[in-house]
Amino acid sequence: MTGPAPHILVVEDEAPIQAFLRATLVAHGYRCTAVGTAREALMQVTAQPPDVVLLDLGLPDGDGLGVARQIREWSTVPVIVISARGQERDKVAALDMGADDYLTKPFGVPEMLARIRVALRHAARKDATPPAVQTWGGGGPEGFRVDLPRRLVFRRRAGVEGEVRLTPTEFRLLAMFVRHNGKVLTHAEILKEVWGPVHAGEVAYLRVYVGQLRQKLEAVPSLPRWLLTEPGVGYRLVESDAE
Ligand code: CA
Repeated sequence: MTGPAPHILVVEDEAPIQAFLRATLVAHGYRCTAVGTAREALMQVTAQPPDVVLLDLGLPDGDGLGVARQIREWSTVPVIVISARGQERDKVAALDMGADDYLTKPFGVPEMLARIRVALRHAARKDATPPAVQTWGGGGPEGFRVDLPRRLVFRRRAGVEGEVRLTPTEFRLLAMFVRHNGKVLTHAEILKEVWGPVHAGEVAYLRVYVGQLRQKLEAVPSLPRWLLTEPGVGYRLVESDAE
């Protein structure tokens, strides 16, 4: 890592959790500022712009949802919301509002660190041109690669590669997943972009098309390895192989 360590802003009102998150992040080489209220969170984001915000949705002086919305009005800093069970609706609302990812309590440290690394990589490549061809499962016998500019998809089965034919809608859906690989996309986000705003509620529709993509890309469509379901939220295509 070059330059100063990434700065993480933790917004969490439960003192033991806040202390644990801070200690864990510092132990893993991050700089960390921790606050416990929505007001302090907004002040910190302005005063010392962080590289990633970990945002608890249940705060004493207003909800994290409002914080997420206000941050998004003027900043593109990655926001990972932390929700408790029973806050599913708020979590999805936060994602639809522009939050980048979520963790559900209780979550493990490796999971949190992985999400932070993804968020940092996404922020770093936001302005860069993505590679034309991206590959999933490159080292193994099963996998696929997508060439977005040429609109081509190749699937490898038992080490043998062949072209996959996608319908125009399947391709638009896959292209959206590829552009945002590693990131969770909500049902509403996907439906709005691929089918248009009128269809934002038709989750069943989306499920059918995701099933079709899995049939064409996954080794075991019923146990997907790449195109994952985020229960109650949406879907996530895992990150492509490192270039
Ligand atoms: Ca809380």
